[in-house]
Amino acid sequence: MGKSNGQCHFCKNEIESLMHLFYRCHKIKHVLDELKHIFNSIFEKNIVLVEENLIIGVYEGEITEDLLLMNLVICILKWVIWKTRNYIK
Ligand SMILES: [Zn+2]
Repeated sequence: MGKSNGQCHFCKNEIESLMHLFYRCHKIKHVLDELKHIFNSIFEKNIVLVEENLIIGVYEGEITEDLLLMNLVICILKWVIWKTRNYIK
């Protein structure tokens, strides 16, 4: 809509894109690493969060309560990232 300069509002070094904002930005990476650590300790699985998981969610062939909870937390995290980005802007 032409209302942004295109730069990431977190790191101010890269072009903001969906993947950069929610996954690739180094300011977000440590949050994702912490989330992965929490998931692994709560669900006692070796969860590997890849880019697709942050966009479309985690799916392992069947829908379980654990996966629903993980996907809910991921959605909330993305909402918080988006609201924080807008606040910084
Ligand atoms: Zn960035």
